[in-house]
Amino acid sequence: MLLREERELVAEYGRKMSADRLSTGTSGNLSIYDPEHGLMAISPSGMGYFDIRPEDVVVTDLGARMVEGDRKPSSEWALHAAFYRRKPEARAVVHTHSVYCTTFAVLGKPIEAVHYAIADAHTDRVPCAPYETFGSPELARVAVDTCGTANAVLLANHGLVVCGDSMQSAYALASNMEFVAELQYRAMCVGKPNILSGAQMEEVLEKFRTYGQPK
Ligand SMILES: [Zn+2]
Repeated sequence: MLLREERELVAEYGRKMSADRLSTGTSGNLSIYDPEHGLMAISPSGMGYFDIRPEDVVVTDLGARMVEGDRKPSSEWALHAAFYRRKPEARAVVHTHSVYCTTFAVLGKPIEAVHYAIADAHTDRVPCAPYETFGSPELARVAVDTCGTANAVLLANHGLVVCGDSMQSAYALASNMEFVAELQYRAMCVGKPNILSGAQMEEVLEKFRTYGQPK
């Protein structure tokens, strides 16, 4: 089986995404990119995450050519492919409809630096891309354009997309963005959140570059 390890991880993190309530029903999708072969392992379209086995995960190239798998790939394959094309360091993409991130996407408002954890997205502000129909090439284009050098972007009236250098880091980023979005929402319910200044976030972003265990 092609990309066996990657397909197992996509199946495993799909179950995690459902269990952690970052996605409801069959919403959201995940992929891992293998730059050596120019192939991605992407979750299948419209299957419950607890039913997806590694062999249900589809292998395609970045031009939507099916390479291995019997299932139809996620309807957002173009969104995933656009991230790998634009961001050569990306190895995994996670797309969720998590409730708090999507709440700000519905408002067309960015996630702000209400907590320093936003620096995990390599930015002090996660912007919101303009609305385009799900699964369309236009959505893929506005998402990567709006994301810029960050690793996370909201999709208006839709959800969140993040990328990372591994499935583990992309998944952790999707969880972190939901945490920050929830804080922003809750703070706005009772008052006006204090947003960290550019200088404060610059210091955090610098620390994040060397945070954690050396690779
Ligand atoms: Zn979606």
